[in-house]
Amino acid sequence: MVKECELRRIVSDDVPQVVCGAGGLVLARASPDRDATWHAICNACPIPDQLATDRWACLHLRPLKVASKGEDGRTFREYYACHWFYRLYRHGPPTTMAPCHGCPYWFPRPPMAQMEGLGYWKDQAEVLAEVRAMLDTAENIPPTDVPQTEGGDKTSPPPPEAEAQTVPTRREEVSD
Ligand code: SF4
Ligand code: SF4
Repeated sequence: MVKECELRRIVSDDVPQVVCGAGGLVLARASPDRDATWHAICNACPIPDQLATDRWACLHLRPLKVASKGEDGRTFREYYACHWFYRLYRHGPPTTMAPCHGCPYWFPRPPMAQMEGLGYWKDQAEVLAEVRAMLDTAENIPPTDVPQTEGGDKTSPPPPEAEAQTVPTRREEVSD
């Protein structure tokens, strides 16, 4: 048995592929129902549980799964990127949903079928590509060069003034 996940897709060409939409990862290329390897990856993944149990799961959230550098290619790290604010985190988006808690811009996360109609997968791919690039260069950024809130906590919600710069750009892209 494999846990349900709204971000998993079956892409069918000549051979069906099981794709993790959070990471743009092909989990299995053939006989997906009998491949225990990807079952293990999904069953160890925290993203579905977070989305199911955290009431702040949001329309604007783009959960990401990125292979860890220097590992065996099957070790991953999960990020919870807000598609308005992820660029504020130059060392990578939050690894928890804590910044969503109490966020004034929260909107209930609808079923994936509805989000697909809003261009979810296109937006997800763009966020994922940018975050991968951010993570690749993050080691060159001084540790102090991160968004600071009053408490200096990287996981706190971003400052309100960030919205004025970021929201219109992303909103235009989503409405395409
Ligand atoms: S790896 Fe995680 S996010 Fe990706 S399809 Fe599996 S359960 Fe979903
Ligand atoms: S930070 Fe706010 S707007 Fe962004 S995903 Fe979280 S709750 Fe939604």
